[in-house]
Amino acid sequence: MKAEIVSIGTELLLGEITDTNSSFIAGQLPGLGIDLYWISMVGDNVARIAEVLGRAWQRSDIILTTGGLGPTDGDVTRQSIAAMLCEEIKVDSLLEVEIREYFARRGIPMSLNNLRQATLIPSAKAVHNVRGTAPGWWVEKDGHLLVAMPGPPGEMQNMWHTEILPRLRQLCPENIIVSRILKTFGVSESKLGETVTEWFRASNPTMGIYAKPDGVHLRLAAKAPTRQQAEEIIAREETRVRAALGDCIWGTDNDTLEAVAGRKLTEKGLTLAVMESVTGGLLASALADVPGASKYFKGGPVALSDEAKLAYGVSSRIISDCGSASTGTALAMAETVRKNLEADIGIGVTGTLPGEAGRTFGVVYIAVTDGRNPVSAEWSFPGDKARMKRLAISRALFELIKMLGACD
Ligand code: ATP
Ligand code: MG
Repeated sequence: MKAEIVSIGTELLLGEITDTNSSFIAGQLPGLGIDLYWISMVGDNVARIAEVLGRAWQRSDIILTTGGLGPTDGDVTRQSIAAMLCEEIKVDSLLEVEIREYFARRGIPMSLNNLRQATLIPSAKAVHNVRGTAPGWWVEKDGHLLVAMPGPPGEMQNMWHTEILPRLRQLCPENIIVSRILKTFGVSESKLGETVTEWFRASNPTMGIYAKPDGVHLRLAAKAPTRQQAEEIIAREETRVRAALGDCIWGTDNDTLEAVAGRKLTEKGLTLAVMESVTGGLLASALADVPGASKYFKGGPVALSDEAKLAYGVSSRIISDCGSASTGTALAMAETVRKNLEADIGIGVTGTLPGEAGRTFGVVYIAVTDGRNPVSAEWSFPGDKARMKRLAISRALFELIKMLGACD
């Protein structure tokens, strides 16, 4: 089944609101085995909505719209559907009674405009809306389905769960889609793409690739008649992808670098301390955000200036010999904080931000040490400060995870 979403509302095109309805619906469709091929946005204009819907009707089995079901002149979704299907729109007497009762229960006088919400076309059935006055429309005709839902996300989502989802489940019982995200770090999107090119050509599972601040994500999506079968396909292909990619995969699905690091530290019964300058505490903050972090994360100072580094115990000789932004100082920071806080592992992060020292990119020195096998290296990061700091802490966390053997 091919589906298409049409978000209706001039506010969307003016950039005044963000189309969260589409992302919500898009997230629901894989579980139903429905393929989403297009998402469109259109303003509150009958001709343009009818045009978009007409195109959708030609190319898709299921069309899901949100917005434009209110009582005002600007809410024209119903008229547009009627125009697209060349059907006459009329007040439905049962719906009229329901809407009149709704207003009577609340003791509010009903405006004549509200009668627009009691209209139907011959192919449409009303969909109950417990959260508002606007019923949705369920239109089945010539092998196509069009569902019109209200714009306010609370109303739409409630209608989705109580009315739409159960009906769609009955309509498309044949397939469900299960997906698995494999999160990698340290390999470029293009290199990764080359390695997994075989999966891009496959149709089941399909593969997608996405660059994120915590690395490049690969999404495998398998379709099968049952969840178990789809999971089996995913498990088989995941094993093959892992074999092809080696140790750059650090997590899956909802994993974050800091949570994976925390999990590995907990499993091994190890503790961590950090000293950072250029990242200004972002690394400590990310680590501390993980529930239960205080059991393995001892904390650590932000030592931006040389004076602070010296005060926290970094040797003045190392700073003067290597420079305050260097692999040597990063390692000394890691080793010093590890010893001072009696932790098993120490991380040191120093460097220069973009804009400093005449550079347009940031240079960061990251060291991780367990007292026996220290690792310290220089990394360049493009982008503005915020992006660079996020990339730097991702690298630091990935190096920690590697040291903990979590990528095995
Ligand atoms: P109402 O009866 O409230 O007028 P409606 O079905 O006519 O509902 P719209 O008028 O199109 O819906 O939108 C009402 C409000 O719903 C918008 O102001 C916005 O806050 C929210 N909304 C509409 N469409 C979306 C969308 N695609 N994503 C997120 N929010 C939306
Ligand atoms: Mg409206």
